[in-house]
Amino acid sequence: MHELSIAASIVETVTESAAAYPGAQVIEVRLRVGALSAVVEESLQFCWGVSTEGTPLAGAKLVIRTMPVVVHCAGCNADSEIGVQSFRCSKCGELTADLRQGQELEIESIEIEEPESASTVTA
Ligand SMILES: [Zn+2]
Repeated sequence: MHELSIAASIVETVTESAAAYPGAQVIEVRLRVGALSAVVEESLQFCWGVSTEGTPLAGAKLVIRTMPVVVHCAGCNADSEIGVQSFRCSKCGELTADLRQGQELEIESIEIEEPESASTVTA
């Protein structure tokens, strides 16, 4: 259950970013999660709820965007989306482990609501 430590580190990062906007309320956090990062979305959502409880982030929505696995094939010089099971270029079928996308776990943006206006900051 590594989602709990992931949620805790997101809370930490967002809290630090939001500290620049005193009095502001974090309403939404967008996350980019690669299909290979082995994060269970439901579990992460649950842990997010637990981790934000009683903090200034309580009630903030966590939006998870799953990124497909993308490999680069040297044979046909193409980047293609593949399933998690096979590491073959989807164009020519060549085996490739040149991963271009699919392992990320990063905060895409944090939406905060300042007392006077709402704005989005990029983490
Ligand atoms: Zn290829």
